[in-house]
Amino acid sequence: MDLDLSPREKELAIRARDFADQVLQPLELITDENGILPDTDYAAVQKQVQEWGFGGINHAKEHGGQGFTFLEQTVIEEQLGRVTNGLWSGVPRPAIVLKHGTQAQIDEFLIPSCQGERRPCVAITEPEAGSDAGAIKATARLDGDHWVLSGVKWFVTSFNRSNFILVQANVDGDPAKSSMFLVDNPTEGMTHLRSPKFMHSFCNDHAELEFNDARVPVDRLLGKVGDGFELTKDWFVEARLQIACHTLGAAIRAAEVANDFAAERRQFGTAIRDFQSIEFKLADMAMQIFAAKSMLYRVAWEIDKGADRKQIHARASALKLYCSEMAGRVIDEAVQILGGRGYMRENPVERLYRDIRVDRIWEGTSEIQRVIMAGQIKKRGLGVYTDWG
Ligand SMILES: Cc1cc2nc3c(=O)[nH]c(=O)nc-3n(C[C@H](O)[C@H](O)[C@H](O)COP(=O)(O)OP(=O)(O)OC[C@H]3O[C@@H](n4cnc5c(N)ncnc54)[C@H](O)[C@@H]3O)c2cc1C
Repeated sequence: MDLDLSPREKELAIRARDFADQVLQPLELITDENGILPDTDYAAVQKQVQEWGFGGINHAKEHGGQGFTFLEQTVIEEQLGRVTNGLWSGVPRPAIVLKHGTQAQIDEFLIPSCQGERRPCVAITEPEAGSDAGAIKATARLDGDHWVLSGVKWFVTSFNRSNFILVQANVDGDPAKSSMFLVDNPTEGMTHLRSPKFMHSFCNDHAELEFNDARVPVDRLLGKVGDGFELTKDWFVEARLQIACHTLGAAIRAAEVANDFAAERRQFGTAIRDFQSIEFKLADMAMQIFAAKSMLYRVAWEIDKGADRKQIHARASALKLYCSEMAGRVIDEAVQILGGRGYMRENPVERLYRDIRVDRIWEGTSEIQRVIMAGQIKKRGLGVYTDWG
């Protein structure tokens, strides 16, 4: 078994680290103070994304993407996760499900998204349908050569940067006909209700939208009627793996900041790292990062080897759960090691502390990941997590 990164994977990790340091990090405090990344800065980042070769990192070359392996994507996303204020979202990752579109949809939506000319956002969650995505009430009915969509969607991330939306709705109100639609932004009959403020000051907004008989051309159905749940599942799995990468990167940065601080900061006549309580914190932080990174790279390697979709689904839940909770613990300890300075917004560990909280909530809460894992163990045995391969 070869656990070495290839020269290409190492080069991509260094390039992504440089991109995060040089392009995204200078925007952290601006985003934090402004509550969102200003439009002009966002536009400048988009240009840089293309120039540095990070447009559509999750898509095939024939779809306008970079044709990276999953491990290559992982080493890049881990580095992007180091930045605060969700600035990794300045590097758009067009939803993976777009590859299931017709050739016309790929030409019109996916290729321009990878090339930085378009950007999608995803609208699944509703006021009454969060963890229970089966409770979705949004409807779609066919009227001549248009689908007519109605319903309310919440927490639509990056709506303010998007010019089309992947909307999940039930055809004729039937959950068995859950489907996904490509809806232009703006569209007549769709109203942006508001974009509330959240704990983090994020790169982009999270919008609430209302569809009131919004008319969408008939060729904007992604896949077939009834494919909605499976497409959403694929989107969740990809997003969970991405969260694992970002939370790992965030934990590593926080640990580095805390380690440097512990060496410099002197109290009672000695560096605080000489106090065993601080040293042990650093040891525990390093141990948890070590475990998370080993899990993540293993799963990325399995995906590249062609692991089956069900296995990836099962493992993505464990990864998302472990990495997001690990980052919460590690960053909390980093704040503690920095003392009062760790509580200052100008310090990255304070911003990471706020940023990382949502990773235990979105794309399936920690409780839902445990529900999924428990279901997998019951159905397929513990081996899905305890076996190798
Ligand atoms: C900042 C942000 C951005 C988001 N971006 C998007 C987006 O772009 N697109 C999108 O569609 N959605 C998005 N979401 C929605 C997100 O995926 C949901 O918030 C999440 O799935 C949880 O749903 P909920 O908030 O309705 O919580 P609820 O489902 O109401 O859960 C409340 C609590 O009950 C627990 N719970 C629920 N069911 C169970 C169960 N079976 N067993 C045990 N505990 C349970 C939960 O774990 C949680 O602790 C975003 C959310 C946030 C906060």
